[in-house]
Parts: sequence; structure tokens; C-alpha cells
Amino acid sequence: MSKNIAIIGGGIIGLCSAYYLIKDGHKVTIIDKSSLDSGASYINAGYLCPGHIIPLAAPGIIKQGIRWMFNSSSPLYIEPRINIEFFKWMYAFYKSCTDKHVINSIPGILNLSLLSQDLLQEIKDENNFKFHYEKKGLLMLCKTEKAMLHEEHTVKLAIENGLVAKMINKSEIKQLEPDVEIDSIGGAYFKCDHHSTPGEFMSVLKEFLLHKGVKIFKNTLVDNFVLEGEKIKGIFFDGQHMEFDEYVFAAGPWTNYLCNKIGVKLLLQAGKGYAMNVCEETKINLPTILVESKCAITPMNGFTRFSGTMEIASINNNNIRRNRVDAIANSACSYYPNLKINEDVRSKAAFGLRAISADGLPYIGRSTKIKNIVIATGHNMTGWSMSTGTGKLVSDFVSEKNPSIDTSFYNPERKF
Ligand SMILES: Cc1cc2nc3c(=O)[nH]c(=O)nc-3n(C[C@H](O)[C@H](O)[C@H](O)COP(=O)(O)OP(=O)(O)OC[C@H]3O[C@@H](n4cnc5c(N)ncnc54)[C@H](O)[C@@H]3O)c2cc1C
Repeated sequence: MSKNIAIIGGGIIGLCSAYYLIKDGHKVTIIDKSSLDSGASYINAGYLCPGHIIPLAAPGIIKQGIRWMFNSSSPLYIEPRINIEFFKWMYAFYKSCTDKHVINSIPGILNLSLLSQDLLQEIKDENNFKFHYEKKGLLMLCKTEKAMLHEEHTVKLAIENGLVAKMINKSEIKQLEPDVEIDSIGGAYFKCDHHSTPGEFMSVLKEFLLHKGVKIFKNTLVDNFVLEGEKIKGIFFDGQHMEFDEYVFAAGPWTNYLCNKIGVKLLLQAGKGYAMNVCEETKINLPTILVESKCAITPMNGFTRFSGTMEIASINNNNIRRNRVDAIANSACSYYPNLKINEDVRSKAAFGLRAISADGLPYIGRSTKIKNIVIATGHNMTGWSMSTGTGKLVSDFVSEKNPSIDTSFYNPERKF
């Protein structure tokens, strides 16, 4: 049965949801408070990375986070705040940081990431879409033995779970990256990972959806719902009241604010990251993560992107912390001694906010409290990687179809 659907949030998750909803015969309206040209879905590193098999909530992260809290240019920063939602999230996150949780989460992470890689290729082929998408793998570079040990553990888990990954030494790095000098003692190579240029896929998808009759309202905040029994009857936006059969909450790290308005609880925090683009030739051939600094480097279409840092802080903080931007740039230059990231590039750094769930797995599914919403957020550092699969699952929920993967991992009402 065809339904009239409102999607709140036009980031990659909202757009992919719209793609599959119209494919399943629904009528779709997307409403976004931004002008749909900035934020996490535009400035991310573009990785589609099943190799990121370990959830953010993992043993050691709290200890590391506390140590890094006192260093304002560290890769992870958790801003202490007196805020009840933050405390609840922090406690649930802390409880999730166990080995058991890591092992139990792997199928949930892998199934959605692998499904999404397949679907991205399918979307590209079916529609003859032109956007940058490459399958060259992802390099993890280390400067210390400690980082190498960490990578060995991840590679072992990846191989045990059927992914193609291996540890590599200095000369193997040279073979993979013949044209750049690299200062590293070795690393890992996740052949299973892919990469893309996010802005290109976002543009192609928006254009396609508009062509297919999807209505897109930009610069339009949704902040008021009319409830009737256990359902949302309508929403106010653009000065008018509109009614829909179902509502998809794909508002990234703002989704918990929407949920709060209708009495649905969702533990979510915003994790800020920065990105800058170098347009001069860098000769960097492979997407690469610098393990110690967690800096991500992506050779995109026409430029190389340098991104990173995770700043879990108030969602209303739109400041660009220059010392964090410098930390990303300086770290990259220390691994690639011939690389230059000049002042102009650094001054144009942009930020995006990731939606950080309490256990490192996304929230995708229905609420038992308000029956006509589907929640799709909380993808942490892998929302780009899991986007097409998430969009497909959203439409499966709306269309009451059996999903192709086990969705219990993503239940938004799971207990922590
Ligand atoms: C530096 C950085 C690097 C990253 N690298 C990668 C990577 O390589 N691979 C990967 O998989 N992931 C990566 N990510 C994460 C990825 O970018 C996100 O997980 C993904 O973009 C989330 O998409 P989204 O659609 O859920 O959220 P968003 O892109 O944040 O979109 C949510 C939208 O909702 C809108 N909205 C919010 N509230 C309202 C409201 N009340 N009314 C109307 N509109 C509203 C917002 O304006 C926004 O446009 C990275 C993130 C960052 C910051």
C-alpha cells in the first residue's frame, strides 16, 4: 500500500531512505533545516568500511578518553557537562565498553556495512549514476608498536569474520604507495574497504529524487508535532500544518530532540569532526587512516581530504577549534614528510556532527510508543558506510517487508 511519508533530515540517511521509499511506491517529502550543502554527510571521509568492525564503545576507550580530556588537540574529546541526558548516555556508553559487547556487535556492524556496499554499487549501475566510487581498500598506518598491536587485533577479527585484511610492513607500504614518502613502521591493509566523494553522491541523489517527484523543503525546521493517540497526526513547518501517514526521523545528532518532543527516549550525543581539502596534487593513492592520531585521508575526485577528531560536546557549539584542525594537518604532515597543508586550506576547514549512539550501533526501527515513526540515526563514525542499507531497512519497515538482515541489533528501544 502506498503511503505519504515525511522524512525529517536530508543528510545521506534521509536521502537513501527517500530513494528506497519511492522505489517501493510511496510518496515522499523531505524537510531539512539546513540549505542541504553542509554538515557530516558532505564533509565526511567517504569510507565504506566494513573493516571498521569494532564499535566505538569498546574496552579502553573510556580510559583513553579521560587521558585525552586534558589535551585540547587530542583525537577524542569528551566535554564534561552537567546535563542529565549526557549522564545517561555516558553511563550506557561506559557499560557497553566490554569485550563481550564488541564480539556481539560485529554481525550487526558487518551485515549493514556489507549490504550497503552492495547496494551503493547496485544504485550506481541501475541508474547509470555518475559519482566517484572506488574499491582500492584502506590503509592503516602506524608509527608505534602499540598501534601495530591494536591493528593486529582488528585484522584478526576482520579475517575471522570473512573480510580481506592483512598486516603489512614498510616495503609493502612502499609498493601500495610508490609515489609518496611515508614515515611509518608498518600497518594494516583492509582490502575490503571502499571510498567515494560524498558531495558527488549527495548531488546525484538529490537531483534524482527531485526528478522522481520527491518534494524537498530546505531551510525548514521541524519542531512541532500534533499527536493523536499513539500516532503523529501532523507537523508544522514552513508556516503550515501538514499531515502524513508515517514520519522518518533521520535528523542525525538532532534526532533525540525530535524524539523528546513526542515522549520517545533516545540516548544520543553529537560528535564533532573536521575536514579540509587540499586541491594540489598530493600523490596519495590510497585512503589511509593514521592510527595514532585517528586522522583520515581520502583521495577524492579532484582533491585530497584530511579529516578527523571526535569532540563529544554540546550540539549547539558551532565553533571551529583551530588547534584541532591543526592537529589533523600536522599529524598528516608528520606521516607524509613532503606534504604541505597551508594556512588557506586550514582556515577553510569545515565541521560536521556525527550522531553517537550509546553502544556504537545505529538506531534503526520503529518505536512501540509512537506507532507511525521510523527512527534512523546513531551511526557514529560509519553513517556514510551504512547509508544505503539503512535507507533500504527504513523502507522495509514502512512497507512492512521482511528485511534481508537481522534488524534486532539496531532496535532503537534496546536496553543498555
Ligand atoms: C569528519 C567526519 C568524517 C567522517 N567520515 C566518515 C566515513 O569516512 N565513513 C562513514 O561511514 N562515516 C563517516 N562520518 C560519519 C557520517 O558522515 C555520518 O554518520 C553521516 O553523514 C550521518 O548522516 P545523517 O543523514 O544521519 O545525518 P546528517 O548528515 O547530520 O543529516 C541530518 C540532517 O537533519 C537535519 N535536521 C536536524 N534536525 C532537524 C529538524 N528539527 N528539522 C529539519 N531538519 C533537521 C540537519 O539539518 C541535517 O541536514 C564522518 C563524519 C565526520 C564528521
